Amino acid sequence: MSSSGGPAAPERTAIIDAAAIAQNVGTIAEYVRPAKVLAAVKADGYGHGMLTAARAALAGGADWLGTAHVAEALQLRDAGIDAPVLAWLHTRQTDFAAAIAAHIDLGVSGWELTEITAAAQRLQSPARIHLKIDTGLGRNGSTLDQWPALIRQAQWAQEEGLISVVGIFTHLAVADEPDRRDTDQQLETFRAALQTAEDHGIVPDLRHAANTPAALSRPDAHFDMVRVGVGIYGQSPFADRSAESLGLVPAMELRTTLANVKHVPAGQGISYGLTHRVDTPTTLGLVPLGYADGIPRIAVGAPVLIRGRRYHSVGRVAMDQFVVDLGTDTEAQVGDEVTVFGGDSGISAAEWGAAAQTINYEVITRIGARVPREVINESAVQPAEALQ
Ligand SMILES: *Cc1c(COP(=O)(O)O)cnc(C)c1O
Repeated sequence: MSSSGGPAAPERTAIIDAAAIAQNVGTIAEYVRPAKVLAAVKADGYGHGMLTAARAALAGGADWLGTAHVAEALQLRDAGIDAPVLAWLHTRQTDFAAAIAAHIDLGVSGWELTEITAAAQRLQSPARIHLKIDTGLGRNGSTLDQWPALIRQAQWAQEEGLISVVGIFTHLAVADEPDRRDTDQQLETFRAALQTAEDHGIVPDLRHAANTPAALSRPDAHFDMVRVGVGIYGQSPFADRSAESLGLVPAMELRTTLANVKHVPAGQGISYGLTHRVDTPTTLGLVPLGYADGIPRIAVGAPVLIRGRRYHSVGRVAMDQFVVDLGTDTEAQVGDEVTVFGGDSGISAAEWGAAAQTINYEVITRIGARVPREVINESAVQPAEALQ
């Protein structure tokens, strides 16, 4: 408890700005109109909380929600969210029957179609599917060789009333580097695959290919819908462009307070491995967040903001903590607020990514369960009837 008697600052928190998510969806919708927007809320809403993200995205105008797993999509339904949902990454353990019963659309790359039609047959309820073509990413999706056979199987199942082909989609590999020709080639292959489908009488309502970077940089990839994740959380998908320059507002701020401050002599080693030694007397600040909280262990020289000043991490990140060098003229004290990234700090998750040989996507999605999420501006994105 704080000595002033007010509520104590939480020891560590990820502050999630629901209004920012809604606003980012609106901003992206402007870029892609008249294409629809599917908001990717997989991986616990990229670390922001799946339900928070889903509700904010829908309030901001998202038409669809997207998850990797059917289990994630079912959680949306359990929470009473009845917007269209697409789930696209399945295993033999995936409960297709539950998905069909819950009106969850299913991505189909190949083998799933047989299982899905069998489930639809048992339920006497048609499945809604989106056929996926691999146009170059080499992950999921039908190969070009298998595509005509998959189309024929889908055509048969649709005629039998077992499925409805709602969409055809693909996923891009290098859209974050807008000038690479590989994207042109992927889109060309996608258009050819759509033509093959059309030749077999399959003309879905929703053709979709674009992720966030393509939504923001490739109008020729918009088709009928874009599937955007990182952008709705206010993160730039481009290495050389800030979120701000794209009109996006970061929706996660990671904060804690200094756990210790101490003066040390020149030569003081820091953290496991003693990979860093200070070469002059200095002041060290101890930040109580570590790799168990999702702070990348290999981050070095990563920024934090304390009392309006930037400091940098030194030595290895440990499980629960890391150290920042506060220099000799610091006023920082135990208990001072530390912003790791986001909010008004001017520090982006992308900067942490750069310090840790990774990307902002990984930084935000890995913030761990030990960090409580505090949602702000939630009332701004709630439907009026929920506001009493
Ligand atoms: C995660 C994902 C997206 C969203 O990608 P972003 O780069 O975060 O916009 C889109 N489509 C598929 C298939 C995905 O798995």
